Amino acid sequence: MANIILLGPPGAGKGTQAKRLVEARGMVQLSTGDMLREAKTSGSEMGRKVADVMARGELVTDEIVIGLIREKLTGAAGGGFIFDGFPRTLAQADALGQLMAEVGQSLDAVIEMRVDDAALVARITGRFTCGGCGEVYHDDTKPTKVAGICDQCGSDNMQRRADDNADALRTRLMEYYKKTSPLIGYYYAKGDLSSVDGLAAMDAVASSIALVLDA
Ligand code: AMP
Repeated sequence: MANIILLGPPGAGKGTQAKRLVEARGMVQLSTGDMLREAKTSGSEMGRKVADVMARGELVTDEIVIGLIREKLTGAAGGGFIFDGFPRTLAQADALGQLMAEVGQSLDAVIEMRVDDAALVARITGRFTCGGCGEVYHDDTKPTKVAGICDQCGSDNMQRRADDNADALRTRLMEYYKKTSPLIGYYYAKGDLSSVDGLAAMDAVASSIALVLDA
């Protein structure tokens, strides 16, 4: 069992790799982005509060996302937790360390997924997701076999994220470089950091992550 963080800019493939780890190892994915999108869809007060900030590509407050993670850390995860899109600031990283200590758990690895910006723009602007099962597709690199129908579950509910456009992506990248990339140094200094080539084929990235987990 291992608790890990997947760290990388938007479009690095964190969500895709997290889903594979859930299937392969029974790990539990904790994506603050997914939790916030659910809050938005459910129309809760918090969801309404964060909707505009998210659509612009800015970070929501540390307080909100730390609260979301705190709620999820009460039960133990058999296969371990995958933190996907959290922490994104140094304050969140400190809070996560404290929360893990409170529940008697530790962080085993922080896996940085390295990619370059040009690849991110192409990846993100063609991305769409099945609203039925969560399978992620891409207009050019992974289209559905039948247009508009999910290969996995047959749903025709395909969704594009409000923040997967060129303007919001520019802001999301700036937020990443200003506020999140300092975490690379933070975890390197703690001795927890591993890096994988996020531009490799999906299976190759999964193998590199497996090597880190099994080390
Ligand atoms: P993601 O799905 O991880 O790309 O997150 C989508 C959006 O949700 C981000 O652009 C932020 O607006 C917000 N968000 C997700 N996770 C965090 C976090 N840990 N801290 C602050 N904002 C977040």
